[in-house]
Amino acid sequence: MRGMTKTMTAGLCLLFGTIGATPPDAAGPAFATAGTDALASDVQPPFRVALQAGHWRADEAPRELSGLRRNGTSWQGMHEWEVNLEIARRAAALLEESGYDVDVLPAVVPRAYQADLFIAIHADGSADARASGYRVASSRRDRTGRAPEVAEVLGAAYGEVTGLRRLTTTTRRMRNYYAFNYRRYRHSIHPATVGVIIETGFLTSSRDRAVIVDDPDRAALGIARAVQAYSATQVP
Ligand SMILES: [Zn+2]
Repeated sequence: MRGMTKTMTAGLCLLFGTIGATPPDAAGPAFATAGTDALASDVQPPFRVALQAGHWRADEAPRELSGLRRNGTSWQGMHEWEVNLEIARRAAALLEESGYDVDVLPAVVPRAYQADLFIAIHADGSADARASGYRVASSRRDRTGRAPEVAEVLGAAYGEVTGLRRLTTTTRRMRNYYAFNYRRYRHSIHPATVGVIIETGFLTSSRDRAVIVDDPDRAALGIARAVQAYSATQVP
């Protein structure tokens, strides 16, 4: 148990280091020498994570998902998919540097997609500019038994890194997200894949845009840290 904690801490250090921020508890030289070897053990055997950039390339949706072609929020000409993709790519880069296998997926998921973890990345929008905060939900059709736990880990890590407010109300649309619905759609995750979704903040909120638009590295780090914390709990 102690070993796992140490490994996770070293991993977080590396992720923080990657984007040049200072981890809050990385004061001593002993921490700096933890090195990447400790982190590598986090991801043995290989851990595959999918980061789906919500609405990205939605115009390619097949007939079964034709409803996807026109949705997603926007703000002053900025489309949600652009924000989601930026965060997904940055989180992918952080994780790849740490030895993870990462797929950045578009709106249309490969048929019966399999990975250790699937995270759909979105942003909210509201006519009320005061609406602010992020939310996380797990698949209603989860058959792995792990999705609620991942949602908790992700909710905690994202809030800790971004400082945004967590909204505890999740919508039915999140829990019934189309990519989780393997019964109805061929282009969805396999039942053995853990699926969660995060609304990273409101594109229509200046407070949230300060993170998801102006500082996507921060949003990405919150997601990457959650992947790392969860994968470290997986017993080979
Ligand atoms: Zn969306």
